[in-house]
Amino acid sequence: MIEKQRMTEYVMDLIKIDSLSRREREVGLKLRKDIEEIGAKCFFDDAGKIVQGNIGNLIAKIRGNEPDSNPILLSAHMDTVEPGEGIKPQIKDGIIKSDGTTILGSDDKSGLAIIVEVLRTLKEKNTPHGDIEIAFTICEEIGLLGAKHIDISNLRSKDGIVLDSGSPSSSPASLVTKCPSAEKLEFIVHGLEAHAGVCPERGMNAIKIASEAIANMKLGRIDAETTANIGIIEGGLAINIVPNYAHIKGEARSHSEEKLRAQIEHMRKCFHDAVARYEITLEGRTYIAKVEETIDRSYEKMDVSNESKVVKLINQAVKNLGINLKTRASGGGCDANYFNKKGIECVNLGTGMKEIHTVNEYLALEEFYQAADILLETIRLNALISPASH
Ligand SMILES: [Zn+2]
Repeated sequence: MIEKQRMTEYVMDLIKIDSLSRREREVGLKLRKDIEEIGAKCFFDDAGKIVQGNIGNLIAKIRGNEPDSNPILLSAHMDTVEPGEGIKPQIKDGIIKSDGTTILGSDDKSGLAIIVEVLRTLKEKNTPHGDIEIAFTICEEIGLLGAKHIDISNLRSKDGIVLDSGSPSSSPASLVTKCPSAEKLEFIVHGLEAHAGVCPERGMNAIKIASEAIANMKLGRIDAETTANIGIIEGGLAINIVPNYAHIKGEARSHSEEKLRAQIEHMRKCFHDAVARYEITLEGRTYIAKVEETIDRSYEKMDVSNESKVVKLINQAVKNLGINLKTRASGGGCDANYFNKKGIECVNLGTGMKEIHTVNEYLALEEFYQAADILLETIRLNALISPASH
């Protein structure tokens, strides 16, 4: 059994260390020191240089006392979102929350603390386990950048567990096995500049054109698998100038590639149809409105089968513990998207974090402890299965 008190104190310590994206160095050094004491061999990879952060992903290996068992990857991310500096965590009525002026950062300090507590317990209780590989990643919150740039040749695991999700309700425990693919979209609408008071008829208002495009666009929840958003709009120089330029940024996500393609085509068509309605001729010369577009894949979807080895292991673990677990799809991406893409079959176990990315974020302690129990039992079970048996 895990030590709840120690684990609670540990997550409080981690929460108090500022670690915005690209600034994970301090928390990374603490984690390295703490898991080296448990016997881990650690290094920081080069991902930090690639993304211009102040440290890389912390990669660690712990030798198993059952060396024939399959290695397993455990992962959580070290960075937090804003406002996330000077966090003052408070424990009350079975939850940890901030003082209300910042996020809490249980996303994902709870995942880090669960992994460290499980490693400590494995060692102290001499529980059977195979080799364990750790990836404490950077820059998850700004596009899964640490996981994106991780050098997979440093890892042997074919199965993994990311601890970086929460569910709205407390029971049953939750396991995310499906996350969507996501695309970033940028549109630049070009109109024609003119004096807004003297000769507005000589202009084409790029903000109006963009607005027509967006007004015709299906956004928000498109269907059970698909979402879309326009999140940023910029343009115009002054109130007395008909603007010749509007810059729009958005995204679309879906668990279905086909639906994602259809949504992106729809969003593009709205812009193309809007600009096609604008054209003026001045002194014999014709001007047409135009749109430039950039569409980039943010990350690939993950879709881990309930028949996969890692899901079956976790299901057996919760059964042994008498816990109900629900596998579910998430609308968000996570580092597991990249691990799956790189060939490690990886799921995302809930840690008890709630209302993340808001100042109301909190950590439900019973779920937090339960996640550690599930992880510990999963690792023990993994050691009982010899590689020859599957
Ligand atoms: Zn997270």
